[in-house]
Amino acid sequence: MTEWERVRFDKPAPGVGRITLTRAEAANAQDYLMISQLNEAFDVAARDTDVRCIVLAADGKHFSSGHDLRDETDIEDLPIVGTQCHFGAEGAEGYMAKEAELYVGMCWRWRNIPKPTIAQVQGKVIAGGLMLVWPMDLIVCSEEATFADPVVAFGVNGHEYFTHPYEAGARLAKEMLFTGRAITAEEALRHGMVNKVVPLDELEEATLAMAAHIAKRPMFGLTLAKQSVNNSLDAMGMYTAIQSAFGLHHVGHNHNQRVHGSLVDPAGVQTIRDEA
Ligand code: ZN
Repeated sequence: MTEWERVRFDKPAPGVGRITLTRAEAANAQDYLMISQLNEAFDVAARDTDVRCIVLAADGKHFSSGHDLRDETDIEDLPIVGTQCHFGAEGAEGYMAKEAELYVGMCWRWRNIPKPTIAQVQGKVIAGGLMLVWPMDLIVCSEEATFADPVVAFGVNGHEYFTHPYEAGARLAKEMLFTGRAITAEEALRHGMVNKVVPLDELEEATLAMAAHIAKRPMFGLTLAKQSVNNSLDAMGMYTAIQSAFGLHHVGHNHNQRVHGSLVDPAGVQTIRDEA
C-alpha cells in the first residue's frame, strides 16, 4: 500500500489496483493537493504492470462534495504535468490556465489512461465530484448515491469538465444544469450514466468483482477496446465540445468578475441552500 495525505493506493485483488480518496472528514472535497496526489496515484497504478484494472473509491459517507473553494494553495508549489503556464498572470489568463491544468487537463489525462477504470461511488457526488466519476470508464454506485451539478446558480455553465450530454444524454443533462437537482442512482442507471446500482453494504464487493473479472483479460486487448470506444466518442466531437464549453465557462467567470467582483455569483450559495 502507498499512502499520500489525501489518497492511498492498494492492490485488493489479482490484477486490480485501487485508489481511495481519504479526506472523509471534509466529504472528500478536492483541494489542489488532493488533485495532485490523485494524479500521482493514477500514474503509479497505470505504470504498475500487475494492474490491469483501476478502481477509484472514496472513504466516508460521500464520494466527493466537489472542489474545495477555500483552498489558496499556490499551484506552482505542486507538480505541473500539463503544458499550461503563467498561472500568476493577471486577468483571465492566469485563472484560465489554472483550471485548464488542474481540472480539464487532469480529467482528460485520467480519461485516457490505457487501462480500464471503475468509479466506486457512495453518497453525494456534487459538481467537481462528477469530474472524478465521469472520466472513469465504468461506474458502480450504491442505491442512495446522488449526482448533481448545481453551479449554474453561480452564473457559470456547469463544472469545468463539461461532458454532461455525453454522460447523461442531452435531455437529462439540461435538466441537471437548469434545475441544479441531484439525480438518483436509479435515474442515473435508467439514463445509462452508471453501469450498476447495488446496496451500500455490497458496493465494495460488487466493484472489486467487476474489476477482477475484467483483469482476467489480456492488458493490450483491454487497452485497444478502451481506446476504440474513446475514439468513437472523440469522433462525435467530445474533446472539441469540452474545450468549447470550457471557453464559455470562462466567459461566465469573467462576467461574474465584472458584475459581482468575484469569479462566481455570490447569490448562488443562498439559492442552493434554499433548495436543499
Ligand atoms: Zn471554473
